[in-house]
Amino acid sequence: MTDCLFCRIIAGEIEAKTVEEEAGWVAFRDVNPQAPVHVLIVPREHIATTNDLEERHEGLLGGMVRGAARIAAAHDIDMEGYRLVLNTNRGAGQSVFHLHLHLLGGRPMLWPPG
Ligand code: 5GP
Ligand code: ZN
Repeated sequence: MTDCLFCRIIAGEIEAKTVEEEAGWVAFRDVNPQAPVHVLIVPREHIATTNDLEERHEGLLGGMVRGAARIAAAHDIDMEGYRLVLNTNRGAGQSVFHLHLHLLGGRPMLWPPG
């Protein structure tokens, strides 16, 4: 059994509110949402951080970004705007070391981020 939280969610060992599933990734709601819409788009493959990405992952990442745009449209936040975030390592706020794309929206987003 893996001790990676997101591998366990993807394996169905821990419950999550799934939004969309694709061959290469799963999207589910963040348990501690920071905005009215807060969805995590998570590759099925365990990739710890963006530092571990390889050329073969380029299609996967592109699909995750397009999937996030589709999910934003489904939540009707695509035109008002939304934010996609990849936190890499602790200094940037990464707390789960299985790469995930945050989709945040439904409220005004400040810039620069904290
Ligand atoms: P990070 O800080 O690594 O960029 O993002 C990790 C995210 O995972 C956080 O926003 C946190 O709320 C979320 N999270 C942590 N544990 C769980 C969980 O058990 N289920 C779900 N759905 N989200 C989680
Ligand atoms: Zn994992």
